[in-house]
Amino acid sequence: MGLKFHNTLTRSVEDFVPLTPPAVGLYCCGPTVYDFGHIGNFRTFVFADLVRRYLEFRGYQVTHVMNVTDVEDKIIRRVHETGESLAEFTGRYTDAFLADLGSLNCLPPHHLPRATAHIDGMIQLIRRLVERGIAYQAADGSVYFSIDRYRHSERWAGCACQYGQLVNLNFDDQRPTERVASDEYDKDNVADFALWKARVPDDGAVFWPSPWGEGRPGWHIECSAMSMALLGDSFDLHLGGEDLAFPHHEDEIAQSEGSGGLAGEIWSKNRRFVKYWLHGAHLLVEGRKMSKSLGNFHTVRDLVGRGFSGREIRSLLMSAHYRETFNFTLAGLEGSRSDLSRIDECVGKLRERAAGTVAPAAPGLIEAFTEAMDDDLNVSRGWAVVFDWVREQNRALISGEMDATRAASELAAWERVDRVLGLGGKPTEEAPPEIVALAEARAAAKLAKDFARSDALRVEIKAAGWIVEDTPKGPKLKRG
Ligand SMILES: [Zn+2]
Repeated sequence: MGLKFHNTLTRSVEDFVPLTPPAVGLYCCGPTVYDFGHIGNFRTFVFADLVRRYLEFRGYQVTHVMNVTDVEDKIIRRVHETGESLAEFTGRYTDAFLADLGSLNCLPPHHLPRATAHIDGMIQLIRRLVERGIAYQAADGSVYFSIDRYRHSERWAGCACQYGQLVNLNFDDQRPTERVASDEYDKDNVADFALWKARVPDDGAVFWPSPWGEGRPGWHIECSAMSMALLGDSFDLHLGGEDLAFPHHEDEIAQSEGSGGLAGEIWSKNRRFVKYWLHGAHLLVEGRKMSKSLGNFHTVRDLVGRGFSGREIRSLLMSAHYRETFNFTLAGLEGSRSDLSRIDECVGKLRERAAGTVAPAAPGLIEAFTEAMDDDLNVSRGWAVVFDWVREQNRALISGEMDATRAASELAAWERVDRVLGLGGKPTEEAPPEIVALAEARAAAKLAKDFARSDALRVEIKAAGWIVEDTPKGPKLKRG
């Protein structure tokens, strides 16, 4: 049994065979930086982080690219409203996004290309599409992708030239002259879409020169240009939320395969822009679609402000299979907190028992976890494996079967699994020196059998927000 993923392109679960193993190119559509990201966005980014971490666990050398869309319709509107410069406005939200990503313990992607740094590549792709007769400049000055011409260019362009690879589309009702200028449109509106948008007064100072006059790129061409610039014209994995499958990802395929990529080659019919497309499902919050008016709209920073940690949010966001709609609730976050403390407590006891002993990783946990995750990243089964393991370790710790070597070996296995889950240890907090001094005075009082004094000191320590616990290795301080 090997690693399998559900590929939206073929609508089936397939063996994962990268183009040039052990290298794996992974692209995930990143944020559009016009506001703070909400937890629905972050479900996708945590999912991408999990895919990357699991591929690394399986021995692949992953190049993880996540773009930052820093020019797009919504951004232009907000820049126009605030009067800020594009760079100032998007810079602020990019920084906030990266801070949130870090607080969720997501590994930084290897490349974080900004769309505005790849305008030349976009122009190059559009130029080739125009040369091939697949794109055309309309009377409004903008350049559009012609779906009709693309679908009928198979004989000479070489590519599959199939519009509707990710979703089934019905072309019978389409009027071939229909065009859409906005970046977002729905499936009932299959229409020629904008590659290059001619400058209009509302764009303010946001425009670039091009062979078709001043303007700015459409959103879809941005991802085609950035992904191919960093991962090559064909690469292994493209991820995103399921709402991006159409039109965004469908348009990415059409632009990339229709142009022959940045190298501009004539492609064989079997060659694909991306081999595997993975789409993460929607997130509901308290059983409903997230909305500001319902009061269930959460950003990562709101939840941190309510006292939840990044690792609690992370573990809840990745508790369900990525293709299942998941209901995120505050009660669920409380549940994550207690689940994590069960793991932390068990790992802490193993660490204590191992007492610095080093041993090779025990196979049991790793094998069961791998079997679960190989199955299209079945993380809910992965969690069940982890909690079975916690129960077994606790049992062995109590029954006295757990010696230092066994504890070290289970600990080593846990550390490998946790490199995938990315929970990290519970952040430890060192007690300040005055509390340590109180704890030492209390230990001295106990030794001298002055229990009144030792109890008084315990109360004093508690009042300062710390708890002193007596362990076989002496007293320990933890946050109370
Ligand atoms: Zn994208």
